[in-house]
Amino acid sequence: MPRPIRSAWLKTLATVAAVVLLAAIVGRALGQPALAIAIAALLVLAWHYWRLRRVLQRLVARQRREPSQGGSVWDELDRLLHRNQREMRARKQRLLGMLRSYRAAAAALPDAVVVLDRNSQRVQWFNEAATTLLGLRHPRDLGRGLVDSLQPMPLAHWLAGGRNAEPILDIASPVDPAIRLNLRLIPYSAEHWLLIGRDVTRLLQLEQVRRDFVANVSHELRTPLTVVHGYLDMLDPEDFPGNPEMLEEMRHQSQRMARLVEDLLTLSRLESQQHSQEEEPVAMVPMLATLRREAEAHSQGRHDIHVEDEAGIDLVGSPRELHSAFSNLVSNAVRYTPAGGQVVVRLRREHDGAVLEVRDTGHGIPADHLPRLTERFYRVSSSRSRESGGTGLGLSIVKHILGLHGARLQIESEVGKGSVFSCHFDAARVRKREPAFPTTVVE
Ligand code: ADP
Repeated sequence: MPRPIRSAWLKTLATVAAVVLLAAIVGRALGQPALAIAIAALLVLAWHYWRLRRVLQRLVARQRREPSQGGSVWDELDRLLHRNQREMRARKQRLLGMLRSYRAAAAALPDAVVVLDRNSQRVQWFNEAATTLLGLRHPRDLGRGLVDSLQPMPLAHWLAGGRNAEPILDIASPVDPAIRLNLRLIPYSAEHWLLIGRDVTRLLQLEQVRRDFVANVSHELRTPLTVVHGYLDMLDPEDFPGNPEMLEEMRHQSQRMARLVEDLLTLSRLESQQHSQEEEPVAMVPMLATLRREAEAHSQGRHDIHVEDEAGIDLVGSPRELHSAFSNLVSNAVRYTPAGGQVVVRLRREHDGAVLEVRDTGHGIPADHLPRLTERFYRVSSSRSRESGGTGLGLSIVKHILGLHGARLQIESEVGKGSVFSCHFDAARVRKREPAFPTTVVE
């Protein structure tokens, strides 16, 4: 027990003992010692009761009260309570200050911030930007369901995804459809979600300007290149006796430029699409046959080529686009596999979906390059890519086409052993193969 409390205890005990002793002496003098002691005990009890009441009053009092100055145990208790109350008030003020500054920071953010109750999806708090970007109003929308407050945004299905909800990259603001928003949902505690809305209008405009620029430049380059290419074809190597390789190199380079322009135009077209161009059955028997023919033509007998059709299904989508994606993968497999290697194209089932897999025993790709492989012009080895006639856009095109078909590209590779590029399609893209089915032959 701390010293001040111990001494207060002793003082109180001494006072009570002194009172009882005094009562005994006075009672004895008056001939009524028992009565005097009983009265003294009652007085002591009443005093304790009165002090207990004062302690309770301090605990329930709303206004601040100065601590008592005496030396009894009750005064010591009162001082301790006063000190605890003062510390608690100071802590509360500090916490309130911190909370206010956090709120002020969140309120000043240029992004819309909305705090939601996780279960009821009702709005609990939002900042000023939520008013300008999402149209939420104080106090109308506080406590209202977010889906109702943000009408006509179709968010019900998205919110149901909760923790797994993918960010919405581009959606029109309910305030003004010209404002484009990026929405993400962050479950930050067991009870609360945070909805963040960012104005990406300018970013999307710049992206559009970039896309238009690439598409226009590619388009403008196409005609002059065709003319140059045509004239080069008409020239005869015998007209350049001093330098016969020159004409061949010029033809080679003009073909490369033409391929680059074509790939850039394809990418621009794919980027401007939301879905695959056609949604029709894609017959996989002729598709696989075409891929085999293309691989053999590319390989010129230098590789061992296998096509395995294990799935017995057809796909749904754009035959042209899917052929372009698969053909890019097959062409890469042949180009990046040294002579004598093996290339396997396999169509197999995976759960309810299907996978088209292109496997090779080629150079392989170091693991640190894999995440960036589908970026435009990304090459593991520029010289090898150029030598093999690559534009650096093939995998980017593949990724876009698969994205438009709701499919994904998976890449596994080991240096020196080879690579596997797999296109994963979900059940919605798979249909039973019917013999009498009208097929689209892609050549
Ligand atoms: P490129 O026209 O250069 O082949 P791609 O976009 O098709 O461009 O491929 C990007 C890079 O990925 C290539 O430059 C190459 O380094 C690597 N790559 C693609 N496919 C394979 C493969 N099957 N084996 C090894 N490397 C590959």
